[in-house]
Amino acid sequence: MRQRLSSEPDRYRGRRRVPTPPRSRYAAVVTTAFVGAGIVAIGANALPDAKSVNPSVLDELRQASVASQDAAARADSADRASRSDRTDSKITEQDPWLLPLHGYDFKSPYGMRWGKLHTGIDLVAPEGTPYKAVHAGTVTKAGWFGGYGYAVIVKHSDGTEAIYGHSSAVSVKEGQEVKAGDQLGLVGNTGHSYGSHLHLEIHVKGQPQDPVAFLKERGVDIQLEIEAIYGDVAAS
Ligand SMILES: [Zn+2]
Repeated sequence: MRQRLSSEPDRYRGRRRVPTPPRSRYAAVVTTAFVGAGIVAIGANALPDAKSVNPSVLDELRQASVASQDAAARADSADRASRSDRTDSKITEQDPWLLPLHGYDFKSPYGMRWGKLHTGIDLVAPEGTPYKAVHAGTVTKAGWFGGYGYAVIVKHSDGTEAIYGHSSAVSVKEGQEVKAGDQLGLVGNTGHSYGSHLHLEIHVKGQPQDPVAFLKERGVDIQLEIEAIYGDVAAS
């Protein structure tokens, strides 16, 4: 829950920062219309005679033009900022984020449960259902892992890790490189488990994060079982 709250302002920061006061936007339109009309009416070699235009009108237009350029510059930098935010979330065709399996029952979100922090999410599925890597990386653990039972840990290139717990069997070896969608193991009920399910945990800098919020930022809604837009491409 805490991660969600702190990540939301980030997502909307770019949008909120865009300063488009209606007044200066209007001024910009007026300026453009005036200049455009002037050129058409007078012609390129006949500059407008300053005396024929009320000086205060010219002054106002100059100010409006400065104001609108200023607003445009600010809007532009805000736009650049939000564009680079989007680049950071690494939703690319070559390096997608995917669901670990399909047709599961989303159970037990990240958070306090039975007086303890449940450090991941539980996806209930029949024993023996294959599950896959949510993202490309290197297998750093494949085998028995205490309360996690048979587990697989994949370290991604951005340093984050995904832990897949309670497997009935693992299908990869430590040191192996995997792509998103590669099979890692079979859903099971090993270790500290109350029934057949996949326990998925995400660590950022070694600390567990809410996988729902983490994956949502990467185009995967694990609660609604919706994959990144490039899911089909990656699966083919
Ligand atoms: Zn769990």
